[in-house]
Amino acid sequence: MIAVLKAGVSETQKNNLVNWLKSQGVGVHMSEGEFQTVIGLIGDTSRIDPDLLNGLDIIENVTRISEPFKCANRRFHPQDTVIEVGQGENKVLIGGGNFAVMAGPCSVESEEQIVGIAKAVKASGANMLRGGAFKPRTSPYDFQGLGADGLELLKVARKETGLPIVTEIMSERHLDLFEDVDIIQVGARNMQNFELLKTLGRSRKPILLKRGLSSTIKEWLMSAEYIMSGGNENIILCERGIRSYDTYTRNVLDLSAIPVVKELSHLPIIVDPSHATGKSRLVKSMSMAATAAGADGLIIEVHNDPAHALCDGAQSLTPAQFDEVAAKVRAIREIL
Ligand code: PEP
Ligand code: MN
Repeated sequence: MIAVLKAGVSETQKNNLVNWLKSQGVGVHMSEGEFQTVIGLIGDTSRIDPDLLNGLDIIENVTRISEPFKCANRRFHPQDTVIEVGQGENKVLIGGGNFAVMAGPCSVESEEQIVGIAKAVKASGANMLRGGAFKPRTSPYDFQGLGADGLELLKVARKETGLPIVTEIMSERHLDLFEDVDIIQVGARNMQNFELLKTLGRSRKPILLKRGLSSTIKEWLMSAEYIMSGGNENIILCERGIRSYDTYTRNVLDLSAIPVVKELSHLPIIVDPSHATGKSRLVKSMSMAATAAGADGLIIEVHNDPAHALCDGAQSLTPAQFDEVAAKVRAIREIL
């Protein structure tokens, strides 16, 4: 249920209302926009009589929200959420018209590799560095990532370039290791690892929540809700393609998820054209399409030597190819 307050309601009146609602056993989520204050009621609202609430002279209107996601719902929070990472000249804003370009290798392989790629993608206009240290691989015999050492190498690359870092967490047991990471990624395979999501709800780090391999948009938003209902509202959604019957591309990129998510939610949404297509030659057109469709950013795999990458070489761009993609994306942004 949401209650929209009339303009000019005093702080005391707001507080009295919020205290009364809490005393009725519901959670309260306040969204103070420039023109409107929206109070979202979370939990069991069956004890709240909407007519009674509607009758109060400080209330403009009351609506029941039928969707199961509340905190992530745009009706609870009409204005776009803007996520802020990094500091000073390296500050990055994501959402609300701000566009982020995250680029880097699938996996961190060595200091030379990650620092070299970080410098290259920064020169081409990326404003964040990606790189996996804990890798969710289909086969246990494949490279599993450098683990904690990989996180340290990402920090070295951040120190050298200033680029904030985004990297994937695989288990809640590792959360302490991620304290100094700028954005924690939850990969497609862990989108419904509810214990992990609950743990991240207790953190205040921005979370990049990838869409599950065969998850509906509503299931994805419910996973965001797990994190948000724990108190962490810093979520960026990432469309990375879903499983379908066509196997020509690695996954099928659901670009319609961008406008749908923007209708349903206030959270920023970025696109990963690398995992979506699995083919480096398709990354440029899908990056341009995602940008044109209104994405708040991109996350793109870039490797100095794709043919010898320890993970996802076929979908990785060379730094020179990334430079071209970044320029095309800037051109689309200018048209928009
Ligand atoms: C990744 O970003 O390297 C990754 C494993 O992505 P996804 O979870 O989307 O497969
Ligand atoms: Mn990858």
